[in-house]
Amino acid sequence: MKIVRGCEFVLMEEQYKLEEAGWNFDNSYNRLPNSFFSRMSPNPVRDPKLVILNGSLAASLGLDLQELQSEKNVSVFAGNQFPDNASPLAQAYAGHQFGHFTMLGDGRALLIGEQITPEGVRYDIQLKGSGRTPYSRGGDGRAALGPMLREYIISEAMYALGIPTTRSLAVVTTGESIIRETYLPGAILTRVANSHIRVGTFQYASKLSTEENLKILADYTINRHFPEIGLSENRYLSLLLEVINRQAKLIAKWQLVGFIHGVMNTDNMSISGETIDYGPCAFMDTYNPATVFSSIDTRGRYAYGNQPYIASWNLARFAETLLPLLHENEEKALVLAQDAIAQFTDLYQANWLAGMRTKLGIFNVEEQDEDLVKDLLKMMEKYQADFTNTFRSLTFDRKEDLVFFGKDEFNQWAELWQARLQRQQESKEASGQLMRESNPAVIPRNHRVEEALDAAVNEGDFGVMERLLEVVSNPYAHTEKQAEYCTLPVPSDRPYRTFCGT
Ligand code: AMP
Ligand code: MG
Repeated sequence: MKIVRGCEFVLMEEQYKLEEAGWNFDNSYNRLPNSFFSRMSPNPVRDPKLVILNGSLAASLGLDLQELQSEKNVSVFAGNQFPDNASPLAQAYAGHQFGHFTMLGDGRALLIGEQITPEGVRYDIQLKGSGRTPYSRGGDGRAALGPMLREYIISEAMYALGIPTTRSLAVVTTGESIIRETYLPGAILTRVANSHIRVGTFQYASKLSTEENLKILADYTINRHFPEIGLSENRYLSLLLEVINRQAKLIAKWQLVGFIHGVMNTDNMSISGETIDYGPCAFMDTYNPATVFSSIDTRGRYAYGNQPYIASWNLARFAETLLPLLHENEEKALVLAQDAIAQFTDLYQANWLAGMRTKLGIFNVEEQDEDLVKDLLKMMEKYQADFTNTFRSLTFDRKEDLVFFGKDEFNQWAELWQARLQRQQESKEASGQLMRESNPAVIPRNHRVEEALDAAVNEGDFGVMERLLEVVSNPYAHTEKQAEYCTLPVPSDRPYRTFCGT
């Protein structure tokens, strides 16, 4: 079964030239000094089969949906061959994993090239699960179907929620089994990103390469992601401030929908400000800042409530890499870096509060707004309220659906909230509209994601995933069809656990 999303298709049996699919690569990363990557040749898999293709994303990249499904192009998604103008490479990077610094690099991924869209926008096209590289260490370089489909579902849901993210173009099965605790079907995900430059890429340049290369990487990054700061007085300080700003926005957006990344190591933080590397991530059902799903996060380092602090910690590691570029005087460089990092908390807080105001239908700013939000969250935590459904019930004025309906503390809070709404110029209707646009009807709830993956991986039935994708692709629609996806999982005595799936 093959799903092609976003438009009708007819599969043609003819062979096409790869270029006819619209691949239009430039390879700027490969023009960086050699120490930043290892060039790679194909590492073929036995029997690649396309199982899902993202039609609308393909179209926006200038790719021909029909031709992408030809045998030759499926072999591109499998890494069995590359288009003429591709320049496949594995990227070198380092990173702090759970606080410990280590050398990493693409151990199971290949950047095959940078697709230039018809509008002239550049995107990395990366194959994840494509085989061993010089950075693989003990790993097999492969990935299992379940985790690759999981990344596809969650990243596309994040995109639809309006959260900056890498995206998923296709998943192919490899026709090979991989060994984890048991044999699993192998698969490769084609990932599309603004770039794969990570905090860890800068750490690699800073600790394991030369200062000259660090400067080349910083200039490359500015040119690629922040061209507007190229001429600023201290462009490396501007780079630091821009990255801080984008991360403050990103993490606030995660918090506002209850997204938990699960493994916020510095190598999994993108400089361009996209959510990257979907491993043990998941959405929170019941509101609790201590929520952790990842089986390996035994100490809760990456718990929901810790995400803003960890982001700030990671950004401090980024700032450290830039020290020699910030100022020739070490002490002055340190002051510049510390002042910049100190801005993160306020920036994050401002983004978060602005988002929370919209979730409550509030347009203007009043000092007590933060208390109003915090009182609601406190109540949600105390009564174990579902994060998404609480805001949904408030949006549609279905107070009786709230777990704390009828409680005095809720009545008092609701009175304050209504009084607050009346103190703004905007109408009740405008307020309701703002809430509908700010509170998703559906998130990819864990039990629905598991159900979709189980059907796809164990039964070969991709229909469940297709229906889930349809619903989460339009999260602010609030349609009848979505209602069934808002229901909570059957209570279980065991907490939900996610795994890295590496
Ligand atoms: P991640 O947890 O996905 O961010 O990966 C951390 C590091 O482990 C990266 O360097 C990956 O390339 C590497 N890695 C993850 N899975 C594998 C695998 N199956 N084989 C080789 N390297 C891997
Ligand atoms: Mg990673």
